[in-house]
Amino acid sequence: MPFTNTMPERTADLHLHTRFSDGTQTPERVVELAAQAGLSAMAITDHDNTEALAVAQPAARRHGIELIAGVEMSASADGLEVHVLGFLLELDSPVLQQHMAEQQARRVTRVQEMVQRLRAIGVTIEAEEVLQLAGEGTVGRPHVARVLLRHGYVSTVAEAFSRYLGPDNPGFVPGSPMPPSRIIRVIREAGGVPVLAHPIYLKRDPLIDQLVQEGLVGLEVYHSGHTPEVVQRYEQIAERLQLLKTGGSDYHGDSKEGLPVGAVKVPYALVERLKRWKAEQRSNADHPRS
Ligand code: AMP
Ligand code: ZN
Ligand code: FE
Ligand code: FE
Repeated sequence: MPFTNTMPERTADLHLHTRFSDGTQTPERVVELAAQAGLSAMAITDHDNTEALAVAQPAARRHGIELIAGVEMSASADGLEVHVLGFLLELDSPVLQQHMAEQQARRVTRVQEMVQRLRAIGVTIEAEEVLQLAGEGTVGRPHVARVLLRHGYVSTVAEAFSRYLGPDNPGFVPGSPMPPSRIIRVIREAGGVPVLAHPIYLKRDPLIDQLVQEGLVGLEVYHSGHTPEVVQRYEQIAERLQLLKTGGSDYHGDSKEGLPVGAVKVPYALVERLKRWKAEQRSNADHPRS
């Protein structure tokens, strides 16, 4: 039979959260949803946590989906929250694991502080309940939001963020005080590719140039929060700064309604570029230029 180009293009969703951070679904379920969405590859990118990957791997193998080891880490720069994704990580990296353990401990203290601040304005929830909801995963503001919802203080998670947990609200406690340079270093030391997540939320494009100086390699050009105009803007920035492009839905299960796995699909070619970059790093390390 003559070759016809009828093969559907292989696609990937490179930004997915599970119960191991603030997503609501198990890793196995997220893999199943990825298979239903027809994806060839998926990256689980939980906040400061990589434990979902080992849990998801057998399911991914069963469904014939390539699972990419990812993470999403928080940093802060000029008072702004910066999220950096890491892809193709070596999960047993001590630097990576120690960093995440520190961040997870800090997040527990932060929840206790948030609960105290809320108490001061008459909103009484228990830190214990928030931590229990997070279970074995990384705790975060969405867990606080869901407990506020449970106790009738708000009627949606979004309202919890706009009334209590957002930067200008009484319950707010800033996230990680780490500079992005540190996060970028941790990801690279773990053999990963550091990528700036959802740059639209940062709202400060000049910062991207600075992050590139600090070792940033990619930009999440495609994201569920990016309009076509925004995508075009970041495509141009990625080109100008010679950054690799990635994209994903930022799926969180029920805590971000109306946003399914595969809501953002990128061509598999972008995954191949991430791999190529990583392979080149390795061969540079093996054969340093004198
Ligand atoms: P944290 O890492 O604890 O600061 O929580 C950040 C997470 O909260 C993000 O990854 C989002 O999933 C979620 N989030 C942030 N802002 C909002 C919002 N306005 N409404 C709903 N979820 C939000
Ligand atoms: Zn999240
Ligand atoms: Fe994020
Ligand atoms: Fe995310």
